[in-house]
Amino acid sequence: HAKEMGRNNFQIYNPNMEKGTEERLSLESHLRNALGKDELLLYFQPQMALADNRVVGVEALIRWRHAERGMISPGQFIPLAEENGLILPIGAWAIDKACEVNMNWRRAGLPPITVAVNLSGRQFMHQNVVKVIEEALQRTGLPPEFLEVEITESLLMRNVDEAIAILKQLREKGITIAIDDFGTGYSSLAYLTKFPVDILKIDGSFIFKILEDEGSLTIVSAIIAMAQKLGLKVIAEGVEDPAQLHVLRELGCDVVQGYLLCRPAPPDDLHSLLQPNYFADIDNQPA
Ligand code: C2E
Ligand code: MG
Ligand code: MG
Ligand code: MG
Repeated sequence: HAKEMGRNNFQIYNPNMEKGTEERLSLESHLRNALGKDELLLYFQPQMALADNRVVGVEALIRWRHAERGMISPGQFIPLAEENGLILPIGAWAIDKACEVNMNWRRAGLPPITVAVNLSGRQFMHQNVVKVIEEALQRTGLPPEFLEVEITESLLMRNVDEAIAILKQLREKGITIAIDDFGTGYSSLAYLTKFPVDILKIDGSFIFKILEDEGSLTIVSAIIAMAQKLGLKVIAEGVEDPAQLHVLRELGCDVVQGYLLCRPAPPDDLHSLLQPNYFADIDNQPA
């Protein structure tokens, strides 16, 4: 029978599987030490308001500079850290570091901007998350209105009541809440009126296709219209060329983020870019 064969197949020795497991274990043991060895870094990517082409915020994006393997992207180690619980110390470090970097820019006399931090499932649902965020704000002195948290919609749907309770606590402290990867979560739109949220971040997959694919354009247009009616701000991620920027401007999008402006970069590289008029001519730049 097919079912039996499937079961037998599963037991066949598979060198690739073995290699995968070994690789995983080695990555995991290295990740345990990465924090202590200062191998984790935060990069930042600017977010620009379309109303005046000014940078209004940055998103913090974690990187792992592995001694032998070079730069490892979060897609490769955040899921691992989620599974083994390392996301808790790593996530707490990222929140604290993001606030610290933002405070340093302010102290250097740059215009005040928000910093957005991504929270993954285990981190968000952990009972300490509010305290971890409070401690970071307190230690660094960053006012809460300059901190944003990004959470995916699928994460919110996992445990709706608990998620609402956590978001309410964060909101009461003055922290801004953004739904990340919006449009990809297969979840009901009704939740938007239940959760206390401020921002929808339209997933890059829609923006990439906005010029070629009528369907993507329609979806982006509908998300923006709906957000406006609900009183939510919209950020488009993954903006790579001026034609996409132009369309988003026409549709009334509030804020854009993507390689067109800048790839995620270390904090020291962003000083000139955070000056008030840096992006004044962005609409006329070649792709
Ligand atoms: P995300 O929050 O949706 O971040 C957007 C991703 O798109 C980032 O990938 C960013 O570098 C990339 N990106 C930005 N602009 C463009 C563009 O114009 N074109 C293209 N093709 N890509 C663009 P990255 O940095 O590899 O991060 C991947 C994901 O890892 C993030 O998705 C986020 O979910 C997660 N992540 C990153 N940092 C953290 C963190 O500190 N904590 C947690 N829990 N998750 C994180
Ligand atoms: Mg994000
Ligand atoms: Mg996203
Ligand atoms: Mg994403």
